[in-house]
Amino acid sequence: MIVFTHPREWKRLRSELFSDRASVGYVPTMGALHEGHQSLISRASEENDLVVVSIYVNPTQFNQASDLSAYPRDLGTDLEIAAAAGCEVVFAPTNESIYGEEMVSSDTDYGTLTSSLEGAERPGHFNGVVTIVRKLFNAVKPTQAYFGEKDFQQLAIIREMVRRESIDVNIVGCELVRDEDGLALSSRNARLSNEGKLTALFLSKTMREADEKDRTVPPQTLAKWAFDQLENHPGIEPEYVEIVDATTLEKLNEWGTEEARILLTAWVDGVRLIDNSAI
Ligand code: AMP
Repeated sequence: MIVFTHPREWKRLRSELFSDRASVGYVPTMGALHEGHQSLISRASEENDLVVVSIYVNPTQFNQASDLSAYPRDLGTDLEIAAAAGCEVVFAPTNESIYGEEMVSSDTDYGTLTSSLEGAERPGHFNGVVTIVRKLFNAVKPTQAYFGEKDFQQLAIIREMVRRESIDVNIVGCELVRDEDGLALSSRNARLSNEGKLTALFLSKTMREADEKDRTVPPQTLAKWAFDQLENHPGIEPEYVEIVDATTLEKLNEWGTEEARILLTAWVDGVRLIDNSAI
């Protein structure tokens, strides 16, 4: 496994060691890799001549210092997992190597895409995400970049950034990976107790039940029902449950021909969990 920390090292490696690899599949991550990340890396490996994974916990996208400091980090294990999934090169930048002297994010306003859902609950979060992904794309210059539907809103925003800025990269959205009981895999799950993990199963269960309900119930009434289910469940504190148009992320007022998505955020064991599914 080749690990580099500065964009200029990649420029050299790309031309000296990998000039025969036409396509580069890129998977940006914050580390603490699990099977969700692995599925993105495996897919990138199937569809490209070379896979680059970045591992970087980006401070500017955290709106709470405690969440940033509690974020799990284990580079050694990450390198093994990435290699097993088909990655040959890891980009592990430092704050200085990727940001330079000033670690700041620029404002991003894509209307509802950035202001709704996570954008409303985590001020500045998507400014940080767009800023870092732009910098990472600029450094790695991938042919294709792989993002999980686990962060459904992030995927929509990155697609919009690439469209607006005419960045020459194909964005590939990958299905959300769950454990066998239905819990969405997340690096933050490592902070859940065993009991918390059982409690957290109620999130995906509620989305499944919502999906099975009769469509005579309007989307927003169904979203309210799902929110109440979570709120009345011991150990769960929901922040929001919304049913939206899967492309625009606008709240859906009636069932129509557009694809609908249910997205939620809830706290379990002091850990903020996000989940979503088609509905
Ligand atoms: P993160 O390390 O949490 O920033 O995630 C890096 C990438 O992996 C993002 O594109 C995530 O959406 C994706 N990812 C994280 N968890 C999952 C999952 N359970 N299923 C699919 N993709 C995921």
